[in-house]
Amino acid sequence: MVPLSLLSSAPPLPLPPSPSLPFSFILREMRILVVEDEAKMAGFIKRGLEEEGSVVDISPDGQDGLFRASSGAYDLIVLDITLPLMDGLEVCRKLRENRVSTPILLLTARDSVDMKVSGLDSGADDYLTKPFAFAELLARIRALRRRDRAEVNLRLQVGDLILDPLTRRVSRGNQPITLTSKEFALLECFMRHPDQVLSRTVLSENVWDEAFDSLTNVIDVYVNYLRNKVDRNFSPKLIHTVRGAGYVMRRPETAGEGAAENE
Ligand code: CA
Repeated sequence: MVPLSLLSSAPPLPLPPSPSLPFSFILREMRILVVEDEAKMAGFIKRGLEEEGSVVDISPDGQDGLFRASSGAYDLIVLDITLPLMDGLEVCRKLRENRVSTPILLLTARDSVDMKVSGLDSGADDYLTKPFAFAELLARIRALRRRDRAEVNLRLQVGDLILDPLTRRVSRGNQPITLTSKEFALLECFMRHPDQVLSRTVLSENVWDEAFDSLTNVIDVYVNYLRNKVDRNFSPKLIHTVRGAGYVMRRPETAGEGAAENE
């Protein structure tokens, strides 16, 4: 972690005035992970985004960034390329290999065509060259958010299980399934992160908008309700328990790859 003293002793960088552009509401309540080892730069981005209403976490190196980003708890990742322990391109590649689809905005000090190409090849959605104006960062984030939102309404499918976010209809093997709103939100969370192990904390943050530290059995109860409806009378089972870690929805075509235990 970056020592707090480092952040607080750094002279505050002047923030550019918040541009009163339309769509600034798009950043409201976005959860953003900033992976950046330079404390001043990280603090500058964090303060600016928090002024826009986003919730921002800072990660000081590539390994920590990969770990946090893998939780699936973020709406966007701002990822510096030059990082200790693991560089940003490697973090990006690993996230995409692990099917974490969170939009990634790369920051690069190296303004070369090669770097842009390898950045986008590694699975990043956009890049920004340092130094940049804060307004430019906001514009890129808004564009990514809009693109991401457009995809939010697409129909989700895992095996023969289908969820339509627009009509809020769910079916498996053409049989309609009726879910409560919490069950629906939980299923949507699983289906947006197939093959990704989701901890109870991440599930509670996404479905209940708060973290239950002491009430994780609530999650277990709801996962069981959901299993009864989407898995019990069907094969193969899609929702699996990963002991000590959480739950994962495995796509049938990848079900043999992991070591998940099905309860
Ligand atoms: Ca850096």
